[in-house]
Amino acid sequence: MLKKLFLSVLVILFIFLSIALYRTVTHTASVVGIIEGETIEIDGDKASQNLAASIRFKTISYQDEEKFPFEEFDNFIKWAAATYPEFHQVMEIDQHKHSLLFKWQGSDSTLAPILFEGHHDVVPIIPGTENLWQENPFAGVISNNRIWGRGALDDKSGVIGLMEAATYLIKNNFKPKRTTYFSFGHDEEVGGSGAALITEKLRQEGVQLSWSLGEGSFVNKGFFPGIDKFIAPINVAEKGSANLMIIATAKGGHSSTPPKRTAVTILAEALVKLEKEPLPGSLEGLSAAMFNEVSKHMPFGYRFLFANRWLFGGVLDSQLSSTPVINAMIRTTTAPTMLNGSVKSNVLPIEATALINFRLHPRDTTESVTNHVRSVVGSNDVKVRFLGGREASEISSWDSPGFKIVSSSLEKVYGEIVPVPGLMIAASDTRHYSKIADNSFRFNPFFIVPEDMTGIHGTNESIDVDSFISGIKTYVEIIREGSSN
Ligand SMILES: [Zn+2]
Repeated sequence: MLKKLFLSVLVILFIFLSIALYRTVTHTASVVGIIEGETIEIDGDKASQNLAASIRFKTISYQDEEKFPFEEFDNFIKWAAATYPEFHQVMEIDQHKHSLLFKWQGSDSTLAPILFEGHHDVVPIIPGTENLWQENPFAGVISNNRIWGRGALDDKSGVIGLMEAATYLIKNNFKPKRTTYFSFGHDEEVGGSGAALITEKLRQEGVQLSWSLGEGSFVNKGFFPGIDKFIAPINVAEKGSANLMIIATAKGGHSSTPPKRTAVTILAEALVKLEKEPLPGSLEGLSAAMFNEVSKHMPFGYRFLFANRWLFGGVLDSQLSSTPVINAMIRTTTAPTMLNGSVKSNVLPIEATALINFRLHPRDTTESVTNHVRSVVGSNDVKVRFLGGREASEISSWDSPGFKIVSSSLEKVYGEIVPVPGLMIAASDTRHYSKIADNSFRFNPFFIVPEDMTGIHGTNESIDVDSFISGIKTYVEIIREGSSN
C-alpha cells in the first residue's frame, strides 16, 4: 500500500517536472531577422555640441511660477530658432507661455496626425550637492565621450534629439504624408500647464491624434538579471497618485502621566499594519506581458520560473516585490512621507497624523485605494481622509501602429533589441496629450545603464555621446515611418 502511494507520488512529480521542463524549453523568443535600416548620416559632433549648448540655458522650473527664470527660457527659444532654422521654417509655430507647438503639415489631411513631445525645463540642483558634480551642471561640458549637465537625460536630449532628427529629414527633402506635431513643454517638472494649454488648443481644433510619443523609459542594458541584450520598455501607461491622511486620535494631557496608548503609538501601529498589508500586486495584464517577453531572454533558471507561473506564481510575485523598482511596476506603492504629532515636547497630542503617498497601478483607483486603507487601519481611533490624487492613465495598445513603428525603428538602429510594453512609474506631460490620442507611448530611444539612473533629478546627469546619436537615428526612423502612412 505504502509502496503504491510512493510510486504514484513519484509519477505525479515526474509528470509535473516534464510539463515544467517542456514549458521552459519552449519559452524562448522567436528568432526574427534583423531589419536593416538605410544608413543615416548624423553629424555626431555637431549634434552633441548642440545638446551641450542647450544645457547652458538654466531653464529651471519652480513650483512657484513667479520664480521661473523666463529670460533663460526666452534665450533658449531664440537659440533653438537660430540653431534649427529649417525646422522653424517648415513648421507652423504656436507659443503658449514658454511651451512651443510645431505643426508640420502633411499632404494627406484624411490621415489622423501624430505628435512627438518633450520638455525643455529642468529640475534644480539639490542644494548642497553642487560640489558632487564631476562637471558644472550648467556648463554643457563634453568629456569622456559624455555630454554632462542638468537635462542631458531629462529631457533636453529628447527635445534636441527630435529637432535634430526632423532637421535631418527636412534636409533630405522628406515631406510628411500625415500631419506631424512636435510639442515642447516649459513646465513639465511642475505639472505641465504648457502641455495642458496645447492639448486644449488642439482639442478645440478638433484634432484627434492617432498616437503620441513623449518622454518615458529608455533603452537599457544590465537592469534585468542574466540578460546582456538591449531591452526597450515602451511605456504604454502611467501610474496615478493619491495622498491620504491617516488621523489617530486619543485623549491629550500632560506627558508626565501618559496613558498606555497615545495618539502617536496608535498612529505607529496603523502604519506598521499598512506596511504589512500593501495593495495586492501580481504578474497579470500589462506586467505579465512585459515579464513574459523579457524572461524569454533570461538564463535557464529564470526561464524555468517564468514559464511555469502556474506553479511558481506565488514565489515569483514575492521575489519581484522585493526589488523596489519592479515592485513599483506590479502594484500600487505605499509611501508614508509626512508625520505630525504634538506641538510641544511635554504635551500629549490629541491627534497624530501621517501623510501617505500612493502611486496607483492602472488596476487600482483612488477610491479602491482609499477603501483598502480604511479596511486595513480604520477604527474608532483611526480615520482615513482622502486629500486628492490623479487616476492612473488608460493603457494603450501594444498591438497598434505606433507601438509597432517604435519597435521596428529601434530594431533598425540597435539590431538585436527586445521591445516590450512597460509602465511609467513617474509622471509625464503625456497625461495631457493622451486625452486627444488613440494611443500614447512614453519612451526615449537613448540607451542607459543602471549607473545613469542616479543622474535623473540627481547628481552627475549625463548622456553617452553614442547613446545620443543612436537615439537621434531612431527618432529619424520613427518620424519617417510614422508620418509616411
Ligand atoms: Zn522629464
